[in-house]
Amino acid sequence: MNFYGRTRKSAINPQTELYGHPLQFYGQPPLENISLTEFETFAVERLKLLKTVETLGVSYVKLSEVYIKKLDHEFKNLNFPYKAEAGDRKSQSGPSEYEKRRKDHISHFILRLAYCQTEDLRRWFIQQEVDLFRYRFNDLHPKLKLEFLHKNNLQYDAITVEEKRVLQEKLVNSSYTVSGITVENHDFYKVPFQDALDLVRTRKVYLKAGYVYIPHQDIVTIVLNDFRTRLSKALALTARSLPAVHSDERLQPLLNHLSNAYLGQDYSIQKNVGKISLEQIDSLSAKSFPLCMRQLHQALRENHHLRHGGRMQYGLFLKGIGLSLEQALQFWRSEFIRGKVDADKFDKAYAYSIRHMFGKEGKRTDYTPYSCMKVILSNPPSQGDHHGCPFRHSDPELLKQKLQLYKVSPSGISQILELVKGMHYQLACQKYFELTHNVEDANFSLNHPNQYFVESQNVLGGGKDIKREMDTPRRSQGNNSAARNSAATQEKAAVNTSESQDCSEITEDLDSYFQDA
Ligand code: SF4
Repeated sequence: MNFYGRTRKSAINPQTELYGHPLQFYGQPPLENISLTEFETFAVERLKLLKTVETLGVSYVKLSEVYIKKLDHEFKNLNFPYKAEAGDRKSQSGPSEYEKRRKDHISHFILRLAYCQTEDLRRWFIQQEVDLFRYRFNDLHPKLKLEFLHKNNLQYDAITVEEKRVLQEKLVNSSYTVSGITVENHDFYKVPFQDALDLVRTRKVYLKAGYVYIPHQDIVTIVLNDFRTRLSKALALTARSLPAVHSDERLQPLLNHLSNAYLGQDYSIQKNVGKISLEQIDSLSAKSFPLCMRQLHQALRENHHLRHGGRMQYGLFLKGIGLSLEQALQFWRSEFIRGKVDADKFDKAYAYSIRHMFGKEGKRTDYTPYSCMKVILSNPPSQGDHHGCPFRHSDPELLKQKLQLYKVSPSGISQILELVKGMHYQLACQKYFELTHNVEDANFSLNHPNQYFVESQNVLGGGKDIKREMDTPRRSQGNNSAARNSAATQEKAAVNTSESQDCSEITEDLDSYFQDA
């Protein structure tokens, strides 16, 4: 893969200059050729990192001790530049610092391509990248911070000890973060006032002769604002070049997959077939189904029908929890014929599509249940539809009523709605899990409705068979499963990526068999 469509021949490797500092504003795109495998691995691993940033940012106070500790762990695990190390020093094991910085750089640009496509994706990407940047900037040694500022044309100089002594009183009076005792220990930066209008407007800094004197804590705010603005503009520019990128048939499916990315188990392998009886579904839907599936089940029972999107989402979920083809046919048939569809019509119009879903017709492909990202980001429900993610697609007032109906406590509802407001839909669902299962910490990172089901069964102790059969690698590995990727897990994620990529094409094909609405 050549990012520019050409290689640059130069006596001095431009990358050496680019990776001279542990942190960058990602101003220059990568210039080198990389393989598609590396392209995919880098992208998947950065996505894991950003997902951890998102989860930690909601679960803990940003930059608190535990937040930093967990993020440190993730950095080390995924081989991203962790703590500033000098130059190309080879670590005892694993890639060198240079290789880590290269991965940081390239992976950022790949995700830019994937996440510039819609407003929602751009917003999510910017938020996580800014949080990541904050953590990394904060972690830099003061000398490296200054180097970073100068390297990026932010000519802010730390004032000398002498200057600080002269201005001490003014600095203390104008900044609420420093006192007379601590002023000596703080670095102050002299910055043109137009670069710090927010701080000037709120009278948080000392202003003299066109310059403001900003304590270290506040310089982070300015750098972050700058980073956010640059990234936002860059994403808008990247979006304009999308038609060209989409014309590359190797890249388009990869990028689409990344923006709908799900990095875990795909729940397509039916090791647990037949472990669930049809009689159990009603009670399981109340106890162990995530809200999206509970809603679909309820709508099906009430209306004796589900439209196309609902049948796809719910049908594949049921298959993933262990319904056999025979059970699925019986389940859908018995429900539909209670409504307006007679047995004959069902056999003609619907049975084929259910067999197709199980890989018994057409291309005979074993279809994959939808991940949360797919449910959240694609095919939003319209009137009369019941599919989608209630945390993403329901009106907050309706969601509130539904949660009240399901006996979620008022304080729990407030917490969920707060997460929804911040667009953390999967975390809101995870909170719903904790509240309805009476556990303090779900201890997994939710990415898939079928994962919700398995975890629920584990907690309720009713999934012993399912537990043995279904792989749940995330649970034993601590709070943020995305963080815990052994080499084997990474390999699996990469495999899943390509499998799901195929599946997205195939699912579209499958869609055509369901067009009766
Ligand atoms: Fe379903 Fe995932 Fe939404 Fe939960 S977050 S309701 S599992 S789509």
